[in-house]
Amino acid sequence: MSFGDLNLHPNLLAGVKELGFTRPTPIQADAIPPALAGRDLLACAQTGSGKTAAFMLPILHRLMEKPRGKTRALVLAPTRELAAQILEDLQDLAVHTPLNGAAVFGGVGMGPQEHAFRSGVDVIVACPGRLLDHFRMPYAKLDALEVLVLDEADRMLDMGFLPDIRRVLRHLPAKRQTLFFSATMPPPIAQLAREMLTNPATINLERQSAAAVGITQAVYPVAQELKSTLFLALLSRGDMNQALVFTRTKHRANRLCEFLVKRGVNADRIHGNRSQAQRTAALAAFKEGRCRVLVATDIAARGIDVEALGHVVNFDVPLVPADYIHRIGRTGRADLTGDAFTFVAREEEGDINAIEKVLGKRLPRVTVPDFDYNARPEGKLEIPLGERIAAIRAKKSEDRSRSQQRQGGRGGSGGQGGSRGGGGGGGGGGGGRPRPAGGGGTRRFGGSRSGR
Ligand code: AMP
Repeated sequence: MSFGDLNLHPNLLAGVKELGFTRPTPIQADAIPPALAGRDLLACAQTGSGKTAAFMLPILHRLMEKPRGKTRALVLAPTRELAAQILEDLQDLAVHTPLNGAAVFGGVGMGPQEHAFRSGVDVIVACPGRLLDHFRMPYAKLDALEVLVLDEADRMLDMGFLPDIRRVLRHLPAKRQTLFFSATMPPPIAQLAREMLTNPATINLERQSAAAVGITQAVYPVAQELKSTLFLALLSRGDMNQALVFTRTKHRANRLCEFLVKRGVNADRIHGNRSQAQRTAALAAFKEGRCRVLVATDIAARGIDVEALGHVVNFDVPLVPADYIHRIGRTGRADLTGDAFTFVAREEEGDINAIEKVLGKRLPRVTVPDFDYNARPEGKLEIPLGERIAAIRAKKSEDRSRSQQRQGGRGGSGGQGGSRGGGGGGGGGGGGRPRPAGGGGTRRFGGSRSGR
């Protein structure tokens, strides 16, 4: 099948051509015809399958015929990154049309988003929380809505967004077309689909647990403490040019990133404790190839779409098999191939077995030649919570006694400190609550906090 067979508007076909898409991916071939016919869809599709164009092309086609100035389509996505990515795809596909869109998510100002509502952009791509914030305002009305897309519904579930989704639905016209996409169909998602869809065309449901084709998967058994060194070894052997690396916690993402940067690797990190600006900058650097390694937690990595990303590394085994499929879907996108490596410590063997069960196959175990599996670890990636708290306490008490000493010995010689110290006399040494002097100390504590 070619795109020409899909009866899409010629201006959309021009956009598709410019993107270099030569033929529809399977999900596009299956989803576009029923969606164009106005049917609801229930589709099992992973990232990398081409699902965004599968729902966006029929939406844009439909809107080509309509008067402008009203928001007629809403796409709900679980993360800011995914919403931003969908908007980018929309803009690429609609480049030869007058249609426009806007993203609505937290972490950035409400003003431009309010403007998008007021001016009635054709398509709004939104995360549920921020959308509900807008719905409290009189300007945020979606009365003219014709199409709703729920993207990565299973991730919405994981992130606790199902109540928000139901709240959003109350603000939307009941008569609409709904396109429902999820990589997996756990029971609560199947239930939500039943509530939201009318006689849907179902796509790919039987393949829900399959990982994207074209991905070579391998398991690297390694002691927990040697994972960083093993990763570095793979990088220096030239086994990977660019890699997206997943860790279980924000703290581990920070520490791995620090480890790599110290050893001269151009690495950055992306997780929930980073500001939106930091996340966007890190992602842009990675996409443009300026950053070689992007370390991410699952949630932040949603929506990361890097063309021709060759390697995904599961630095930690995901606890949920669906996360594994989502993570490795970051590589091997569309027709490309990629490698997905998973580092498995002894205590994670149960988790990888569960994933293999879902995949229906055992993944090959790989030993890296010349890597010293008995080496002494260079340091723990994760300092146990108890040790971290003890370190914080010790540092605080050290700071306190240092500041007491300073106040006692200064005798009013330092203008600023002296006056504050004098005032604090009644409150004792701690009254002035001095910040730890060393920037390094503050940073280390920042890291500990994020890991909790
Ligand atoms: P998605 O699953 O929507 O995140 O898309 C995965 C990647 O595949 C994106 O980089 C798209 O630009 C790309 N893509 C989507 N459709 C096609 C197609 N028909 N041919 C080649 N690449 C595509």
